[in-house]
Amino acid sequence: MKCRRCRAPAVIEIRRHNAGFCRDCFLRHSREQVRKAIDDFDMIRPGDRVLVAVSGGKDSLALWDILRDLDVDVDGLYLGLGIGEYSDDSGRCARAYADEHGAKLVELDLPADVGFDIPTGARVARRAPCSACGLSKRHLFNQAAVDGGYDVVATGHNLDDEAAVLFGNVLRWSTEYLGRQLPVLPAGNGFVRKVKPLVRLGERETAAYCVLKGIDYQVEECPMAAGNRHLGYKAALNAIEDQSPGSKHAFYFGFLDKASPLFTPEAVAEQEQLQACARCGTPTTGEVCAFCRLVERARG
Ligand code: SF4
Ligand SMILES: [Zn+2]
Ligand SMILES: [Zn+2]
Repeated sequence: MKCRRCRAPAVIEIRRHNAGFCRDCFLRHSREQVRKAIDDFDMIRPGDRVLVAVSGGKDSLALWDILRDLDVDVDGLYLGLGIGEYSDDSGRCARAYADEHGAKLVELDLPADVGFDIPTGARVARRAPCSACGLSKRHLFNQAAVDGGYDVVATGHNLDDEAAVLFGNVLRWSTEYLGRQLPVLPAGNGFVRKVKPLVRLGERETAAYCVLKGIDYQVEECPMAAGNRHLGYKAALNAIEDQSPGSKHAFYFGFLDKASPLFTPEAVAEQEQLQACARCGTPTTGEVCAFCRLVERARG
């Protein structure tokens, strides 16, 4: 197979684009896809300071690298989750990237800075680990961005992630989530803008990007993910994509284009009912937000 752009031998085939690319043209293609997502959804504006949530995995490191190449004013944020060896190795990958590229990495550690790790916190608070983890990440990423004077938090969610979350939400008709499943959530209510610039790239592509750029990333799956529904949704969508390339893209972008606005009124109404958490000020439905309740229970 030849590169679609320069006719040199291709190193990667992307079936949904019906194209192969050589190394340099693939890297350029990846940057262009991120640029297009940023422009189409007005994710990052001139002068914005961006904090990218770096887990040490392929997606977030590829995102950090591409944003730097696109001359975005971006720093990394690594949050240690206290998940044993997995977290140790993830932190090493994030730090190695920062050191090699002279990039700034802000570090936070859940056990040291907040007082619990994900496995223990989730058990004590009787929450699924990924739910306790997601809640903590949302809260602490935003807090770090506010404290550091950043305008935007960028996360490495890719097309596979977003299609799988959408699939799960549609299977259950979780309309309250469908109204908020957007590649950009605007700032407001004490939250900075949240963006997902990798929505036009699949996870095979972010992995290839890191390999071709020589970026070392955490290749292990988080041990807490086992049995997680999300992985089942991904596998189902992969089987469909295999049969008809482009399905994930059509599913996700078709939703954004045609269906997402139908769910906006419900999401807006929900936002309007929120009040400030009595402890931390985060908007919440109850008196104390879910993160503060988690912290209280997890610390014992
Ligand atoms: S798999 Fe679950 S516990 Fe592990 S990092 Fe992801 S959300 Fe957190
Ligand atoms: Zn080429
Ligand atoms: Zn709170």
